[in-house]
Amino acid sequence: MTDCLFCGIAAGDIPATLVLERSRTLAFRDLNPQAPTHILVIARDHHADMGALAHADPEVMAELMATAHDAAVQEGVAETGYRSVFNSGRDAHQSVQHVHLHVLGGRNLGWPPG
Ligand code: AMP
Repeated sequence: MTDCLFCGIAAGDIPATLVLERSRTLAFRDLNPQAPTHILVIARDHHADMGALAHADPEVMAELMATAHDAAVQEGVAETGYRSVFNSGRDAHQSVQHVHLHVLGGRNLGWPPG
């Protein structure tokens, strides 16, 4: 999709610090990290949010989650714990309308979230 930031990253047109590359998903570092490890995992194809992807392509949703876990293992936070978050819509402060799974770890993340 034109004018989509994360489509631009998936296409290699916009720079990002890549962490893992899979056939249909991609993991890269968040530009404004909220924890020592803060990675975003996206589908290469454009889907607006978690619900859209889950209904359109459950196989890619499964790959997205496996990529998130593998990125956490690679970062060394799988053992100490990590949080995976989909923000969907205005109240959740979704700012990029291309499905992305936040993977946060490396500190005590607290609960409940804000
Ligand atoms: P959300 O608020 O859930 O839509 O999350 C969007 C995330 O994208 C935020 O955590 C931003 O810091 C991050 N972000 C925005 N632009 C970039 C970029 N060019 N590269 C990496 N992360 C980005």
